[in-house]
Amino acid sequence: MKQIRALVFDLDGTLVTSTLDFALIREELGCPEGIDVLTFVDGLSDAERVEAEAIIHRHEVEDAEQSVWLPGAQAFVKRCRDLEIPLAILTRNSDFSSRIKIAKNEIPIPYLITRENSKPKPDPSALHEIASRFSLPSEAVLMVGDYKYDLQAGRNARMPTCLVHYEGEPDYLHLADYKFQNFSQFHQVFFETRQLIN
Ligand SMILES: [Mg+2]
Repeated sequence: MKQIRALVFDLDGTLVTSTLDFALIREELGCPEGIDVLTFVDGLSDAERVEAEAIIHRHEVEDAEQSVWLPGAQAFVKRCRDLEIPLAILTRNSDFSSRIKIAKNEIPIPYLITRENSKPKPDPSALHEIASRFSLPSEAVLMVGDYKYDLQAGRNARMPTCLVHYEGEPDYLHLADYKFQNFSQFHQVFFETRQLIN
């Protein structure tokens, strides 16, 4: 991990909690299982889409207002900031609800890319944009997330990938170059390897 010079974090389930009830959202939208919610909404007529977006917005704002840091994530981010490691957040959440989460939890990461200003993960274009803004090759930027879209986006951008907060053997485990069940383990390994080179 000593080649890592910058990190991109997913937001929900990685840095902060998410209590979004996807089953309830799907039910309210009439979105069948097996179809990605955002893809489903994109395929609706204009009038239906406005209504669907209002449903999603309501759920996301409620979720954002209840969000809290996940264990160990705040200490990890703080240490990165102290060491001036460039950081970004890439989320499929809306800009509005992401900013509520960032403000409420005082997440010290101003560089935020949301679904309004990027193609959603697993598309790699936002990650290419971040690496280029950091003036770093993709292999020096670590994509950190808790779900397959994060890992697929990282792979598609040729970035190393790190899975956090996993349990058991999820079917996307093979997409992770590094895996940690919690941030404390990640913290220890990540900063230990840096002490060796500093
Ligand atoms: Mg997530």
